[in-house]
Amino acid sequence: MLLSFKTALIPNDKQQTAFKKACGVARHAYNWANAHIKEVLELRKDDKSIKIPSAIDLHKKLIETVKSVNEWYYETNKNVPQKALADLRQAWDRCFKKVSKQPRFKKKGQRDSFYLEAGTKAKPLIKNDGKRVKLPSIGWVRLAEPLPVTAIHNCVISRQADRWFIAIKYEMEQPTLNVKRPTVGVDIGVKELAVTSTGKVFPNPKAYRRMSKRLKLAQRRVSKKVKGSKNRAKAIKKLAKLHAKVSNIRKDSIHKLTHYLAKNHSVIKIEDLHVKAFLKNHKLAGAIGDCGMYEFRRQLEYKTEKFSSKLILVNRIFPSSQICSNCGNHRHKMPLKNRVYVCPDCGHIEDRDLNAAKNIERWFDGIYIPKCSDVVSQ
Ligand SMILES: [Zn+2]
Repeated sequence: MLLSFKTALIPNDKQQTAFKKACGVARHAYNWANAHIKEVLELRKDDKSIKIPSAIDLHKKLIETVKSVNEWYYETNKNVPQKALADLRQAWDRCFKKVSKQPRFKKKGQRDSFYLEAGTKAKPLIKNDGKRVKLPSIGWVRLAEPLPVTAIHNCVISRQADRWFIAIKYEMEQPTLNVKRPTVGVDIGVKELAVTSTGKVFPNPKAYRRMSKRLKLAQRRVSKKVKGSKNRAKAIKKLAKLHAKVSNIRKDSIHKLTHYLAKNHSVIKIEDLHVKAFLKNHKLAGAIGDCGMYEFRRQLEYKTEKFSSKLILVNRIFPSSQICSNCGNHRHKMPLKNRVYVCPDCGHIEDRDLNAAKNIERWFDGIYIPKCSDVVSQ
């Protein structure tokens, strides 16, 4: 399972200089390629047979014409310009698909960043001892907060004001009890009963809604009858019957859900929610919402034991609905009425509950939580 993590670095002066150089190379390669593609597009106006260079074409041309005359390129890792070209090419692809505007030229000091790759297993270029990270051609750099000691696939070093950050993709071993069964995150839905990170939707039972309405009606009838009257006694009996029915429907749907979860997954992650806070915040009317939360958790607890799977409670401060499940880098306000998550960072669009479920699935103690921006999802 690949996870992403972003934290501050504490580089020394020499390392900061190396970082700045690498940012410079990335920016130079990016801007050079951008200018080159613009030229090609100009030429194509007259001659459509001219090919728009691919990322590989750009890299070849960069080595031939740019690197050969700019010695300082060789002071940084070769992945730095290569990734900058790939990013630029992707930006143009988005432009060609009319998803975004033409890529702009990068200015020094604006979103300075560069990319490094891990290399092969036999020759790992990025190492991590939990407190420091070893970067190719830069060396051991101190981390501001500890990182689980794992293999790192790649990283992006970026600068924000005077601080340097590292965003890492790394492999995390799943605490699986049965390798054949996957991990699942479950979002207790607003609209649905539950949505899993695998995309399975458990709708609220229709009968439940219908019965809930009848229940309210029956309650009103009881309160209108004269105390001690026979009619009141009858109405109370009817109300009790309905209560039992509603409770059975709720239990039944929760049983089906928890059985499916516990049986088919090795790890089930749910939010550790305060029932009271949950009801207040989510304004739920669903089968789990009203007093089904305890039941949901109780059932999961014993069923996971039965199927030797594991129940993990996700910290309740984790903003599962606000984080982008695709890039993990963005977090914005999500009013309850917004049913769709739209990431202004990477453009990811997803159903609100599915996005939340994916975040819950990915959660681990100490996961990086981006700062909430003022952007409100549309
Ligand atoms: Zn995103």
